[in-house]
Amino acid sequence: MRAATIISTTLLAAAMSACSPEPAEETPAPAPEAAEEPPADDAMTQRVADMRAQWNVPTEPFHIIDNIYYVGTQGLGSYLFTTDEGHILLDGALEESVPHIKANIEQLGFELADVKYLLNSHAHFDHSAGLAQLKAESGAQMVAMEGDVSALEGGFYLGSPRIAAFNAPPVKVDRIVQDGDTVELGGQVLIAHHTPGHSRGCTSWGTTASAYGDNYEVLVFCSASVAANRLVGTPQYEDIVDDYRFTFEKAKGMSVHIPLAPHPEFFNLLEKRDANAADDSENRFIDPTAFAEYIAAQESAFEAALEQQIEATGAEIATP
Ligand SMILES: [Zn+2]
Repeated sequence: MRAATIISTTLLAAAMSACSPEPAEETPAPAPEAAEEPPADDAMTQRVADMRAQWNVPTEPFHIIDNIYYVGTQGLGSYLFTTDEGHILLDGALEESVPHIKANIEQLGFELADVKYLLNSHAHFDHSAGLAQLKAESGAQMVAMEGDVSALEGGFYLGSPRIAAFNAPPVKVDRIVQDGDTVELGGQVLIAHHTPGHSRGCTSWGTTASAYGDNYEVLVFCSASVAANRLVGTPQYEDIVDDYRFTFEKAKGMSVHIPLAPHPEFFNLLEKRDANAADDSENRFIDPTAFAEYIAAQESAFEAALEQQIEATGAEIATP
């Protein structure tokens, strides 16, 4: 108990100051009883456990277009961009998803050991918790947007570091990117589009695929759902509301022919897979209207959630 107190106090202090990774030299004063353990919310812990099991149901890997493959589980996306010089893997799902991702990569005839870069849509455990293990097994370089680095390396959900159910194994970031930076390997170029709000460093990775004698804009859109995020009162992080609105405006200016996401149901990917012709002659992943429709729906949902949180907390927020 005593050790747990010290660890949680140190972690909290580190998360709040976000500067020195050094442990405090002096033994911190014991935290008051109420602050000693993360908030006991058995119902939430159980809900997260149930979600994890549902998300982690394995599924067959599948070809999307060009050199792009889905290697995730039924509920959590993970994308493989293959090249002759090695591969890029986007999103690690849960720790327990790693064996499925590895098996899926192998089933497609590729090797996890040939993954050179690991990318992340955002630092929430359902997309980041598998990264540490994937990095250890592949030796790949971890690339992440600046705003999510502290959460990835600290293994917490930014703004909720004491909710144990939201934690993830920490993963060291080897390269920090900013909006517009690219990751390139063997002719494959992925552009990091900063689309913050859902997480501070939320990153939508874009590329151009060539197939059927044409080019298609592919975007693995991070997410713009409110989910567990506090928007008002003590927000999840500073400027979160402005960030969501920035992302909606930015997304409206993007042309996307093939929308993909960390949660495949955002764009009905498994249904599209099942509807695709076996001979690849028809590709349902090419869906040029879906992204704009999705963003419009997410924007309405965000504004409704914001209003609801303002009402519930009595907080005020400056209108743009
Ligand atoms: Zn998330």
